[in-house]
Amino acid sequence: MPPVAQSLPGYAPEDFVRVLRGLPVSSPVNGAINGHATESVNYRNFAMSHYILAALDQHSADWTDYTSASSPYLPQSPPSSLSMSAPDAHVPGYILDRPQAFPDERIEAAVRSALPTVADVCSRPSDGLPEMGVWVCPQCGRGIDPLDLNVDERALIGEYLGVGDDCGVVERDDGRVELDRMNPWQYMRLVDCLAWDHFASHLRQECIVFWFPSPVTAYNSKPAMWWDENRLRHRQVYRPLRLEIEALERTGQYQLRMWKAKKMLRVAKQGIHAARYHLTRWRREAVSAREALVRQMFEAGRSIVDTGLAVVDLMDAEQEDPERVQWQESRDAHRAVRREWETRKEEWASEYLGP
Ligand SMILES: [Zn+2]
Repeated sequence: MPPVAQSLPGYAPEDFVRVLRGLPVSSPVNGAINGHATESVNYRNFAMSHYILAALDQHSADWTDYTSASSPYLPQSPPSSLSMSAPDAHVPGYILDRPQAFPDERIEAAVRSALPTVADVCSRPSDGLPEMGVWVCPQCGRGIDPLDLNVDERALIGEYLGVGDDCGVVERDDGRVELDRMNPWQYMRLVDCLAWDHFASHLRQECIVFWFPSPVTAYNSKPAMWWDENRLRHRQVYRPLRLEIEALERTGQYQLRMWKAKKMLRVAKQGIHAARYHLTRWRREAVSAREALVRQMFEAGRSIVDTGLAVVDLMDAEQEDPERVQWQESRDAHRAVRREWETRKEEWASEYLGP
């Protein structure tokens, strides 16, 4: 017999253990007629005594105590937070893993083949400029004269600085347009801008996009480059390279998706565990409340049937208990999330790896 049942006789009526065993009640309090219990009264007492015993069972084998599970309870507040909160959640791993200047050694090779005489395309071109001198492309020999800008160069600077007093250029009396020398730092950045833009035109021939920081403010970042996929697509000679880049991106996407799925499944698992934890705690408290009710009624001399009916009422009310309903809903919601992401993960895996 479970420990609670063992403790029952202490406050249960004397008949309790008798009726549990199916023996007739002896006390007239429990519904006897002329000192003798009828068959149906005996049965009712028998059923109710077992109902009470079952309601107080803390040790049933048919439910799992998640509060004593080996995995510790991880507090979650609120229990349904499903955010993808990592700062790098949107960046594919294959980009994050490459802090170096050339994200791909083939890009490095393409840059070298486009600009073999340029030592470092990312370093500032203005560093090698003689004061107020003309910048000359080491590759093609084209010069950019900051004191005599052509129409294209003026247009490029106009894209960044617009028109007006701070447009970065001044027109001289002879009609020539030169870089404004009032702000030497901006002057040097504008030289960078013109030269980098020229390098970008060389690299475009190799299907590389070259980004450089804006000359408007002090630099916060270095230039960067990546394949120009539109151009690659239109040039048959680049087809193997394009396919390889696409495969690389597909792998990156797959890794990102698996990472997301893993994260969501972990959130779901934690949510299910938290809900189960609270449901176990709730259940234990409910059983304690039932036990208190039974003890109170028995000690007040109430019959087994009356007490049993009160337990039935209490347990009906438990079904509607808002706290219990809330945790059951939370558990079901997290189960749905788990199902959804397990399905999605399988679909993505078979899409990438093949069925
Ligand atoms: Zn050039």
